[in-house]
Amino acid sequence: MLDYQTERATWCPGCGDFGVLNAMQKACVNLGLEPEQVVVVSGIGCSGKMSQHFGGYGLHSLHGRSIPTAQAVKLANKDLVVFAAGGDGDGFGIGMGHFIHAMRRNVDITYIVMDNHIYGLTTGQASPTSDVGSKTKTSPQGTVEQPILPLQLALAQNCGFVAQGFSGNVKQLVNLIEKAIQHKGFSFVNVFSPCVTFNKVNTYDFYKAHLVDLDQDPDYDPHDRVAALRRVAEANNLVTGLIYEDPDRPSFEESLPGYPDDAIVSRDWTLRQEDYDAILATFR
Ligand code: SF4
Repeated sequence: MLDYQTERATWCPGCGDFGVLNAMQKACVNLGLEPEQVVVVSGIGCSGKMSQHFGGYGLHSLHGRSIPTAQAVKLANKDLVVFAAGGDGDGFGIGMGHFIHAMRRNVDITYIVMDNHIYGLTTGQASPTSDVGSKTKTSPQGTVEQPILPLQLALAQNCGFVAQGFSGNVKQLVNLIEKAIQHKGFSFVNVFSPCVTFNKVNTYDFYKAHLVDLDQDPDYDPHDRVAALRRVAEANNLVTGLIYEDPDRPSFEESLPGYPDDAIVSRDWTLRQEDYDAILATFR
């Protein structure tokens, strides 16, 4: 476990992102993954620090671009376990297009969103998941826009793995992240990760009082997508657990004709003069 901790995390004391970091590290340790087998690609925001704090390979990409960067890493080296990580502003605002297409494409990466319903790094503006009526620096009289509904969006898009966790329940989150890593294809784990500094509504106490744990419901079937959509909507998205999984959906890598069995980066990419000549010849 200590191998994954390279530096002291700089989030505010009590930030939910500590719980997410802890859960990601524990999940990797439980699966026997060494730090050099794991890459975390992050976007911009407080959650973007995950790529620095995690302790494996880290790549701090551009705002909203963690997913395409993580997909490229995975396609270049299939032997790595690859996370994309970011916040609700990063992923459901500027990065939303990539999220939708990643679910469609189904490259074998795990996407972790630290959803705190606010822009924390820029000191408290309304985000794409802020609830109607949220009073923030950009909405002093309360937001009037409907929030993005991440789980319903992912279920509607037929994402092959959809889960939701809570920073205040690291044990469950570890289990969900382990399952997400093991799922072959794009896995989405949304995490309620309270911003203790700028969001005084969506707090640890709020989630403890309202969350329904579907993992503990013996009647809930995470393989029934239509029922999952209904259950999530009925609970106003305040659920945790494995929401949906289709273990039979082939990944992009499995579906693409001719996709190589080896890690592409392991090949000899040294270009010789005859290689340049061959490439130039194709333009003549
Ligand atoms: Fe966490 Fe909010 Fe502090 Fe950012 S501002 S580190 S999200 S508590």
